[in-house]
Amino acid sequence: MSHETSYHMSPEEFRRWGHAMVDWIAGYQQRVETLPVLSQVKPGDIRASLPAAAPERGEPFSDILADVDRIILPGITHWQSPNFYAFFPSNTSGPSILGEMLSAGLGVQGMLWATSPACTELETHVLDWLVDLLGLPAKFKSNTAGGGVIQDAASSAVLATLLAARERATNFQSNERGADGRLVAYVSTQTHSSVEKAVKIVGLGRQNLRQIEVDEHFALRPDALARQIEADRRAGLTPCFAVATIGTTSSNALDPLPEIGRICRENKIWFHVDGAMAGTAGLCPEFRHMQNGLELADSYAFNPHKWMFTNFDCDCCYVADRAALIKTLSILPEYLRNQATESGAVIDYRDWHVQLGRRFRALKLWFVIRHYGAEGLRHHIRRHVQLAQEFAGWIAADAQFELAAPAPLNLVCFRHRGGDDVNRQLLERLNRSGALYLTHTLLGGRYTLRFCVGQTHTEARHVAQAWHRICATAAEISTAPAKAT
Ligand code: PLP
Repeated sequence: MSHETSYHMSPEEFRRWGHAMVDWIAGYQQRVETLPVLSQVKPGDIRASLPAAAPERGEPFSDILADVDRIILPGITHWQSPNFYAFFPSNTSGPSILGEMLSAGLGVQGMLWATSPACTELETHVLDWLVDLLGLPAKFKSNTAGGGVIQDAASSAVLATLLAARERATNFQSNERGADGRLVAYVSTQTHSSVEKAVKIVGLGRQNLRQIEVDEHFALRPDALARQIEADRRAGLTPCFAVATIGTTSSNALDPLPEIGRICRENKIWFHVDGAMAGTAGLCPEFRHMQNGLELADSYAFNPHKWMFTNFDCDCCYVADRAALIKTLSILPEYLRNQATESGAVIDYRDWHVQLGRRFRALKLWFVIRHYGAEGLRHHIRRHVQLAQEFAGWIAADAQFELAAPAPLNLVCFRHRGGDDVNRQLLERLNRSGALYLTHTLLGGRYTLRFCVGQTHTEARHVAQAWHRICATAAEISTAPAKAT
């Protein structure tokens, strides 16, 4: 083997094993439906199968690949199974995987325009495309004062925008002197925990995070927000950041953006909108009502890595005023100086997020959009929503179940009427069966099951099978409660 002399994998070997790897992935796509969705291993099982020490001598690639099947696969929870309904999806597709492969093959680090112009310019261009495809406000386009950037995840997007909000609220003095403990951020009780984490990291202090109450549909109550802001102002505090969500994690609730946006404008509060999963539904004009009011937002982020057939990680983050973000995050050490940057004619995305280095993520997004076309993407999003709506209809029509929240898109929150214990048992048995995977939340303090349709290959037959399995398992529990779990 050539690595006995150079240790490297030669291009010929790479070609051979690359083909084998693609064959493996294609085979996986064909059989993933037959595998137990939730990994059935116990803690420590995977490590127990691995040698204690790293190999001194390189090993044949055939052995490595064999161990993928033997050791790794049993420890995989199959997010790409059509029977995956848990959390929010993290779906992928052929063109996305190929884009990811090309990104790794090129091995580009795109921190500056100059370190690979195509990495920056393709990203800017694809993000502009998405503004049109999703019907987002034009102020997020790169030919305005705003623009978009790909972040690794929604958590990073909210962290970067909160930093910019902190600076804007303090005339860019917090970067110099540190936060003064008077800045306040607003979320709802249903907002994703990534905002709380960002508040911790940015140094606002968790005591300065206000969790505003929600209405009966789990959407943030603007009247409560306005009252809290007023109280904070009276107490001498400085409201600086508010987050509204399009599609909350627990129940897909849609916060009322126009009212929240107006309150933020009146109070000079940075208004961030989090559309992590549901944002993808903006591809379809009939779902864009959820984006009404987005024109009032200072920033918006959604994750193609959830529902848009683009594998993790890929978050599209838009700002209305890129200068505020760049001023917040820009530091230019001598070793990064270059002519293109000095000319002011280029975007250097290193200034748009926390880390310096960055991958060529736009490739996979570009591949996905070009492969499916807008029409193909819309087709699949509509199909998922329709399947979820059918499922919601079955729940509503069955006397032993109830819907726990409105289901505006592809997430259905429901419960068995038998109470928390029955629902817990139901979830546990369903997931242990390996036939499907769903997760839970608490809504109104009650244990609630979540059924989210968003996996690339989920079809009507899978959802029908899931429903039959849910009904059969519920029947087992109610006829044999003593033997439960
Ligand atoms: N916001 C919402 C509404 C989410 O549901 C999630 C994750 O599910 C996040 C943010 C965090 O996403 P990420 O993993 O991209 O940071």
